[in-house]
Amino acid sequence: MFRIAALLVIASLAAPSAQQSLAPHQQLARDVYKELIEINTAVTTGNTTPAAEAMAKRFRAAGFPADDVFVGGPHPNKGNLVVRYRGRPGATRRPLLLLAHIDVVEAKKEDWSAGLDPFVLTEKDGFFYGRGTVDDKAMASIFVANLLRMKSQNLVPDRDLILALTADEEGGDHNGVQWLLANHRARVDAEYGLNEGGGGQARAGKKIANRVQASEKMYVDFTLEATNKGGHSSQPQPENALYDLADALTRIGKFTFPAKTNEVTRAYFEKMAGIETSALAADFKAVAQPTPNADVVARLSATPLYNAILRTTCVATMASAGHAPNALPQRATANVNCRILPGEDPHAVQQALAKAVNNPRVSITPVDAAKPSPPSPLTPEVMTAITRVTEEMFPGVPVIPFMSTGATDGLYFRQAGIPIYGVSGLFGDMDDNRAHGRDERMGVKEFFDGQEFLWWLVNGLSGARATR
Ligand SMILES: [Zn+2]
Repeated sequence: MFRIAALLVIASLAAPSAQQSLAPHQQLARDVYKELIEINTAVTTGNTTPAAEAMAKRFRAAGFPADDVFVGGPHPNKGNLVVRYRGRPGATRRPLLLLAHIDVVEAKKEDWSAGLDPFVLTEKDGFFYGRGTVDDKAMASIFVANLLRMKSQNLVPDRDLILALTADEEGGDHNGVQWLLANHRARVDAEYGLNEGGGGQARAGKKIANRVQASEKMYVDFTLEATNKGGHSSQPQPENALYDLADALTRIGKFTFPAKTNEVTRAYFEKMAGIETSALAADFKAVAQPTPNADVVARLSATPLYNAILRTTCVATMASAGHAPNALPQRATANVNCRILPGEDPHAVQQALAKAVNNPRVSITPVDAAKPSPPSPLTPEVMTAITRVTEEMFPGVPVIPFMSTGATDGLYFRQAGIPIYGVSGLFGDMDDNRAHGRDERMGVKEFFDGQEFLWWLVNGLSGARATR
């Protein structure tokens, strides 16, 4: 009861206009946000190490022991920060990981609207503008500010909290999460973690859903290659590398993998049935059943998003062929990009493609090894806590578990046996997603609401309470 009452009071403070003064913890989050946005951490032209160091400095100044504040990485420009917030001595619950990447996608000032600089935090018309305001420096700043706030209140959780701010999520050769797992596993080992990838969806100012990303599809590229001895184009032969490749791609275009649902996607469709008002609602409900009806699957598969949720997909994305306009092609290659359902075998996908192509003159080889990641279980501990805070802060907004059709760094932790949940309480307009694009922005109210949401969620998941 106390919690709910306190939350209501705090939530009512959580929407300051630009001119209103912020509560101290909000001012701290804003300061951290500004500091992080204004350090250029773009994957190729920036450097995450100064950002990691700047945050480390804040934790050391707040009294965190030197051993619990770690900055390191495989390259001088690719620093990561790992901070351990110690729980009650003798606590038996394993740590909770708070994960956010601090690298950002490149941004050029000349590409942004007048008056905005991607590497300056600008508050304007109810929004914070800057590269990373959404992806992913809002979560990074909020985690930093909330841990510092916990420390200032002497809160002692019943498990350790681990903050990891990482490099190269957006690309690059020095993925911070992979490096930490390979070289400093003990520092990031946790029972489970919170990450980007989920978040709230709003439309025209109305909150639609608070999404929890619990699973990701697996990314694999295959190279298709047809070769031929070639010859003079004035004397064509029936066998032609380009025709072989074109035929193979046409066959792949017509091939569909079988539909398959899992715990996360069934929960997604079940919940979506509750918020969808059109005829789709009945189809969502039906497809959430253990053995969905084929007509329903076919109807939903006509929408690219639902098709991608229901099955493994493979699509041709690049091709090149031939060496001269007046020669028969000796070589024709294409890239086929597959997004494989978690739990499916990439080798079986390759075999299915080979069977569909059915031409021994076309070879199919994976470009890189697949990175499979199991779905995170929808454990009651996590889902109940998320639902409770959502109901308290955003009454009536459903919590919707989902599987990303793309990928985040969550996959490396899931691979390592550490479930990851993409959840933030940060709402954005689903029709105006500017992450990676120009004029990236986060609502000011949405930022502070997200801070509050993660404060209560992390407190709830770690039994943090004051000791004096
Ligand atoms: Zn991101």
